[in-house]
Amino acid sequence: MKQPEQEDLRSRLTPLQYSVTQEAQTERPFTGVYWDNHAQGTYRCVVCAEPLFDSGTKFESGSGWPSFYDVVDKGRVTQKRDFSHGMLRTEVVCANCGAHLGHLFPDGPNPTGLRYCINSASLAFEAQPQSAAGDADLV
Ligand SMILES: [Zn+2]
Repeated sequence: MKQPEQEDLRSRLTPLQYSVTQEAQTERPFTGVYWDNHAQGTYRCVVCAEPLFDSGTKFESGSGWPSFYDVVDKGRVTQKRDFSHGMLRTEVVCANCGAHLGHLFPDGPNPTGLRYCINSASLAFEAQPQSAAGDADLV
């Protein structure tokens, strides 16, 4: 029996976005759209649009995946134990919709020492508007 929600996701997401977020696949390093993105803005869950990461916590990990040392809000991301591939790793999923995001490693930079290694395919980047200092210049 097919769930309508899953069918909806299949039509809304790209095949890669679907396999990463719903089947916990991992995109190949240096192939995603965001690993080398340096724009200011917010990274949202590609499935449910919850804000998950901020560009201010993104750093160059050299891994080929977007890497963050913190989340926008701790409650936005759920950690799970992942024993796949013969390793114990910490999987991180969207707390709101359960979408697979990537993994968390304890080798990140200060101030947290954490590295959220996230698939571009799990994220939807929303660029910060230029001159976001209020609506004074809007007519
Ligand atoms: Zn989500």
